[in-house]
Amino acid sequence: MTDFYTENNILRCAALDIPGIVHGFSTRNGGVSVNAHTKSLNLGYGRGDDDLTVDENRRIFASLVGYDCANLVTAEQTHSARVVYADGSVNVYEDCDGFVTDVPGVFIAVKTADCQPIIFADPCARVVGVCHAGWRGTVNKIAANTVDAMVRLGAKRKTTVAALGPCIGKCCFEVKDDFIEAVRGADKELLSFVGSYHADIRAMNEYVLIRAGILKENIYVCRDCTCCMAEKYYSHRRQKGLRGTMLSGIGMKNQEFGVMNEE
Ligand SMILES: [Zn+2]
Repeated sequence: MTDFYTENNILRCAALDIPGIVHGFSTRNGGVSVNAHTKSLNLGYGRGDDDLTVDENRRIFASLVGYDCANLVTAEQTHSARVVYADGSVNVYEDCDGFVTDVPGVFIAVKTADCQPIIFADPCARVVGVCHAGWRGTVNKIAANTVDAMVRLGAKRKTTVAALGPCIGKCCFEVKDDFIEAVRGADKELLSFVGSYHADIRAMNEYVLIRAGILKENIYVCRDCTCCMAEKYYSHRRQKGLRGTMLSGIGMKNQEFGVMNEE
């Protein structure tokens, strides 16, 4: 199943269009960056845009998605498998690659440019999650760790939806022997998704999620390849490291529907 659509330059998964919940995967379009390599919605600092430009892009993304920019929570990502509970007291965490929260108003997000962003929600339990799965995070099962952290907050595996956003496709993800050895060392079962020197990060994460108890029908996979689609996405590999950064995130609104009953 795909079920993804792009509106106002933001990619969304229809299954996550849940009342009271906002989410989005940014594309490279709709922002104010003018450098050739960051044009135009670069959401990462230190990529060649001055901070004010990135600030403005982050405001644009927040308004398009529908959250308060001041409540954005991100990480200094390290390709770890570590997932943190975000309670809204900290905006930038060090050394983690995934978040869960049950606090309304907090918008948790990860940065990518080829790696796999995954957004989660249990609409019944009102618990959300997000993770950044590069190949290291993927084989060390950060996707399963995110699900486990949601379950500890009251989410149910059977009602949790997972949306796998745009990442580098098997078409472009060439790997070498050291990669294959690392996968073999971490999780032999994932070797079946490594062909003759091309790896399928999406399929690996889908498999990790099914093994973690997420139902196949609740897993939605965007088939866009960030490396192939130069007009729509930044790609670390295609742009040889000289690239912008995309954000993928989710949060709950402070009040559902914006309708107040004052009786
Ligand atoms: Zn490709």
